[in-house]
Amino acid sequence: MAKTAVITGGASGIGKQTAIRLAQLAENIVVVDRNIDGAEELIENLQKAGNGAKAISLDVTDFEAVKKAAAEIKKEFGSIDILVNCAGIRKDGLLAMMKEEAFDQVIDVNLKGTFNMVRHCAPIMMKQKSGSIINIASVAGTMGNAGQTNYSASKAGVIGITKSVARELVSRGVRCNAVAPGFVGTEMTAEFADNEEVIASIPMKRMGKPEEVAELIAFLASDSSAYITGQVINIDGGMDI
Ligand code: NAD
Repeated sequence: MAKTAVITGGASGIGKQTAIRLAQLAENIVVVDRNIDGAEELIENLQKAGNGAKAISLDVTDFEAVKKAAAEIKKEFGSIDILVNCAGIRKDGLLAMMKEEAFDQVIDVNLKGTFNMVRHCAPIMMKQKSGSIINIASVAGTMGNAGQTNYSASKAGVIGITKSVARELVSRGVRCNAVAPGFVGTEMTAEFADNEEVIASIPMKRMGKPEEVAELIAFLASDSSAYITGQVINIDGGMDI
């Protein structure tokens, strides 16, 4: 049966490369993003390459809108086999100056957005008795990072969701894992691209590429990782050794 992969934050960066890579694993690709122009451009290219593909304009923080989107995907494609939660933001600042909104917004998108997607896609996977969920955490969630109290908390929370969901759904044939990238060259980190201090802090002395993260996600989405669930796999050039 044809497989369907849903990627949030698929209009840009890691999510975009993941959608392109997963098009080799799944016949249907659904790109979910609040940046609908970016999502539609990608979808057109995937359709030209022969995939069933759809772009959905969605704010992952909206519980009811996510519920509606999951039902729409199930209706149109018949299944949700792979869910990758890439949608994310950062609003960094030192603790003593961090505004309440900066904390709330980052938690809302990164943590609650992941919950909303898992909450509404997992029941479809449970009925199928198969599925692979991959959440994007961060080394900030495992190591902490000065200036990122909000972001680190959100990503540590994503790890908590990953482990609980993995335990809860293992008997239903659904796996749930997380990847924890270090610095990856995307729009989110553009301001650090030439920052010598940042590069010096990475044992491999370079930023990761979104394609490299997409490759790990594809492994976790595929049957090659059938015996892996509840894990957080770092992809960070050695930052969290
Ligand atoms: P990016 O900014 O290139 O992409 C993020 C995407 O998420 C964008 O397309 C954006 O429109 C979308 N998005 C943001 N808020 C949304 C919302 N409320 N609803 C729907 N879509 C929304 O960033 P990226 O670097 O590709 O990041 C992807 C994921 O990887 C994020 O979760 C990020 O926290 C995580 N991550 C990135 C790095 C890095 O170094 N780039 C490191 C660790 C973790």
